[in-house]
Amino acid sequence: MALVVQKYGGTSVGTIEKIQNVARRVARTYDAGNDMVVVVSAMAGETNRLVALSEEICEFPSEREYDVLVAAGEQVSISLLSMALQSMGYKAKSYLGWQIPLYTDDAFSKARINEIEDANIRKDLDNGIIVIVAGFQGLDRDNNITTFGRGGSDTSAVAVAAALKADVCEILTDVDGVYTTDPRVVPEASKIDKISYDEMLEMASLGSKVLQIRSVEFAKKYGVVVHVRSSLNDNPGTLVMKEDADMETVLVSGVAYNKDEAKISVMRVPDQPGIAAQLFTPLSMANITVDMIIQNISQEGFTDMTFTVPRSDFKKALKIVEETAVKVGAAGVQCNESIAKVSIVGVGMRSHSGIASKMFETLSTEGVNIQMISTSEIKVSCVIDDKYTELAVRVLHEAFGLDNGQVVQE
Ligand code: ASP
Ligand code: MG
Repeated sequence: MALVVQKYGGTSVGTIEKIQNVARRVARTYDAGNDMVVVVSAMAGETNRLVALSEEICEFPSEREYDVLVAAGEQVSISLLSMALQSMGYKAKSYLGWQIPLYTDDAFSKARINEIEDANIRKDLDNGIIVIVAGFQGLDRDNNITTFGRGGSDTSAVAVAAALKADVCEILTDVDGVYTTDPRVVPEASKIDKISYDEMLEMASLGSKVLQIRSVEFAKKYGVVVHVRSSLNDNPGTLVMKEDADMETVLVSGVAYNKDEAKISVMRVPDQPGIAAQLFTPLSMANITVDMIIQNISQEGFTDMTFTVPRSDFKKALKIVEETAVKVGAAGVQCNESIAKVSIVGVGMRSHSGIASKMFETLSTEGVNIQMISTSEIKVSCVIDDKYTELAVRVLHEAFGLDNGQVVQE
């Protein structure tokens, strides 16, 4: 007998009929003799609907109330799933984050999970109850409801799996697994059978929407093997797991893109110690994650700084940067929201050279100008004009031999 954690996303619970399908699938796994904890997202579109309601009232709602609002979607889906199981004759019980409780820090809308009290869930499991957990939410130490950022139910699932030492954490979704790139852009993209935590982390942070980044960080930290698979069939999906020797032989595992960033440049900043700290500390205090940073070589004691921030934080970031720019005596601030980041990812890069230059060459052959570059051990990212995103993804996918699943091996 195993303990299985399954997570179903919004599209899998988008209608009553789909919820009943999920209930049947959960029941099937339960009938096979497993203990079951099921984490669900809100019904498809519901969280967006709630966010839009808040936007009708104000642009910057109080963060606490925002979390109270967006956490509401999951209350509907957990109770409906629980009822569906009960009407099939199973014992099921739903839990909101605070009822578990699942404790987090107090960073509203991007809270981090600190601790999960597993006593209630364990007791239910011992009594043969199927436990349904609301994804995406927790409770801070002052009893405020917190949420984990969009797509946060993945993180709930992995965290619950880690806390309960589950045998498997299955993320059931509307795709068959993790693909070499977005199949909507490149129809030749193929499913990856297994991918390392680090690659998945890069893919997720670079724009692959299959798993929330935090969930992968969590899985890596606690060694949870995550199985991303389709909720519509029984085919094996993608295993996200510890790196093994086969993975190294593939040069590039995937091509990712992200249109969710915006670029901000601060012009003619005095080139003195402490300036970067003055610029970036207020952003981090506001919980805004800065991604790529470029500082130009200094001329006559001045330098330009360019960096990217999530588009969702863009207005907030710009306001902060404009204030700081005045304080530090910069000449001005420029910004650009129509950028995209295109990246190639693969642990094989560690042991092979020439991969970055092949990427630059491929883009230049298509006349795509590179505005910023950043690299890590296992990825190369380029910021380009967002109108070239699809083109860039297609040519890179082909150049690195990923079309039709013909991965380039050593
Ligand atoms: N319902 C939340 C969202 O739409 C959490 C999730 O789906 O994982 O972002
Ligand atoms: Mg999701």
